[in-house]
Amino acid sequence: MAELILTRNFDVPDAHTIRVYRERGGYQGWEKAKGMEPVAIAEEVKKSNLRGLGGAGFPTGVKWGFIPKGSTAPRYLVVNADEGEPGTFKDRYLMERDPHALIEGMLIAARAIGSHLGFIYIRGEYVQPWRILSAAVKEAYDGGLLGKNIQGTGFDFEIVVHRGAGAYICGEETGLISSLEGKKGWPKVKPPFPAVKGAFGQPTIVNNVETLACLPHIVTRGAEWFAGLGTKTQGGTRLYSVSGHVVRPGLVEAPVSVTLRQIIYDHCGGIPGGRALKAVVPGGSSAAILTPDEIDIPMDVDGPKSKGSMIGSAGIIVMDETVSIPDALMVVARFYAHESCGQCTPCRESTGWIYKISHRIVEGKGRKEDLDTILDVARRGAGTTICAFYDGAVGPYISYIEKFRSEFEELIRNSAHA
Ligand code: SF4
Repeated sequence: MAELILTRNFDVPDAHTIRVYRERGGYQGWEKAKGMEPVAIAEEVKKSNLRGLGGAGFPTGVKWGFIPKGSTAPRYLVVNADEGEPGTFKDRYLMERDPHALIEGMLIAARAIGSHLGFIYIRGEYVQPWRILSAAVKEAYDGGLLGKNIQGTGFDFEIVVHRGAGAYICGEETGLISSLEGKKGWPKVKPPFPAVKGAFGQPTIVNNVETLACLPHIVTRGAEWFAGLGTKTQGGTRLYSVSGHVVRPGLVEAPVSVTLRQIIYDHCGGIPGGRALKAVVPGGSSAAILTPDEIDIPMDVDGPKSKGSMIGSAGIIVMDETVSIPDALMVVARFYAHESCGQCTPCRESTGWIYKISHRIVEGKGRKEDLDTILDVARRGAGTTICAFYDGAVGPYISYIEKFRSEFEELIRNSAHA
């Protein structure tokens, strides 16, 4: 069993309090980071091969470097805690069980990028994590770890916890920033990227909860140690949210070199009732679906990509032989049709059309041309929209049909409208 890093406090009573967090070695990373030059912290994070763990998988230290050199404008650190990707529930556990790991990670990141104000944008539905996190922020203020001239270092850092109102698109960084500014949560065309012009028009770094929670460990134990836990292109362990047809669903922490097969069969006990595995979504609902012969891949940023999918948020949805893939596609299509923000015509219209078509197939009213229509509509819109939402939706639309076409065709053949 590999060493637990991100989940090491999860089963410790009262680990959400600053007292227990400190007893478990918490805030040692900050103690070290406060004496380091900001550039040295950023270099350490670059060397650690830490990648963004929210979905995009971009190297964290490199992202920090996009803030314009020499800019004297205020710069903001924004935490993306709007965990809305279906099948993903890891940040929720981090904020409930170990909120000070996020706060410590924010302090370290803020020092590295020279930010004095951080926002945590937390999903509105996450009421319990919000309560626990808000209490932890207050404890950090009371303990002199946030505010002005922290521990006599001359460094100021404040944290504002901001609740979202339940829109999936606010997990997209520019949509999140619009919402944080009090506007409709609409994504914006990039460039400019948030690191250049983000929240309130100022340079802004948006990092995910889990990404930031890695920082105390990287600073305390060193970049080499963290990089060595993973693969050539990604360091560390990460949290995999596993749901669906496995014996032990839940959160799995493992080095990113772990294979999808090991997660399903070793960590989660395999498929219940002796049934066969039919398909797996490896990285949240926007990831293309994989078949049972495609699961011998490392679960880093490159493994699922090698099979035409993506690691995304590492939300793994396991489907056994009892699952109807046309039904699964309809559910996913309904979600994207509902959550499209509606700014871009291809996304607004296609998500609705594809949901309607997939629904009629499932209802037994499918037509012969339906599958090719879905594929055509999906492909035409890809790459033409403001944000990655539609490209994310295209992954399941195409892969569910291409990999399980005969199942759709059988439904259509038996339909009175074929
Ligand atoms: Fe909105 Fe979809 Fe366009 Fe993204 S791709 S901005 S969600 S309409």
